[in-house]
Amino acid sequence: MTISRRHALAGLIGVVPMAAAAESAYAIKPVAVADGIWMIHGADEPMLFANGGAIANIAIIATSAGTVLVDAGPSIRYGRLLKTVAEELTRQRVVRVYVTHLHPDHGMGITAFDPAIVAALPGTIADMKRDGSGFSDALYRLLGDWMRGTDVVLPGRSIDQAAEDFGGCRLRLLALAGHSAADLALLDERTGTLIAGDLLFLDRAPSTPTADLERWRESLSVLAALRHKAAIPGHGPFDPTGRRAIDQTRDWLDWLDMTLRQAASSGLDMVEVGDLPIPPRFAGMAAARYELQRSVSHLYPALEAALLPRVDVEGE
Ligand SMILES: [Zn+2]
Repeated sequence: MTISRRHALAGLIGVVPMAAAAESAYAIKPVAVADGIWMIHGADEPMLFANGGAIANIAIIATSAGTVLVDAGPSIRYGRLLKTVAEELTRQRVVRVYVTHLHPDHGMGITAFDPAIVAALPGTIADMKRDGSGFSDALYRLLGDWMRGTDVVLPGRSIDQAAEDFGGCRLRLLALAGHSAADLALLDERTGTLIAGDLLFLDRAPSTPTADLERWRESLSVLAALRHKAAIPGHGPFDPTGRRAIDQTRDWLDWLDMTLRQAASSGLDMVEVGDLPIPPRFAGMAAARYELQRSVSHLYPALEAALLPRVDVEGE
């Protein structure tokens, strides 16, 4: 048996109960949300060894030309099981896998598919090329055996069209940004279902490691103007209104931006900002404190630099 560097590393840091993980399997349970569309609801938690990294929502769309997937989970083990579950459900082989954005909870599972059927925005492919191996190393450290066999694979198809048709099932492909540098949202025109990737979070706090809050809010305005009937967010439960996830994501981003700006103007340090009270209207939101503290680390240094005048410049 060959021990790879990653396995050796995972073993060394001692976070990986290998025997237990070898027995573990993902529970992939698609729930019908519209005619011919199912959602797999990821755990509304941070990525943890206990959930195998299966925190992102996945969509399965049945078409007469084959099965379409939106996102593929965190690992090859997840992707393979997803393929089996989806093909048993629809009785059609998977012909397309869209990756909504670069984050590994959505995209590392494409290792299980032929890259020729995997499509993403050009900006997502460039980001995955740049960050893929770093994400992979981080996931191997965190998830250990769940990740075994998962390589960094890039999508083989670059999206340059506004829609794709699968036997009369037309999917609009919206090239947006803000949660990351390139965020794909899809609208199934037949059912009016919006599959929004991580542009939308519902009852689970938005994550901001690669966010541009201003662009994100512009993208939310584009989504709000669509004539969709319901929405599948990137994290959190299905939104049968199609509106609640948009409103709540915008509300959180507005509050976060305002809070960080006020804190920077008041001279609070990062620990103090991470401990600020979270408004009661977000009390039902999973991972709110966790994501606030992460957002402080992602966004606060640049805000401080922009808002606070330097006192050491041009001094005499
Ligand atoms: Zn994301």
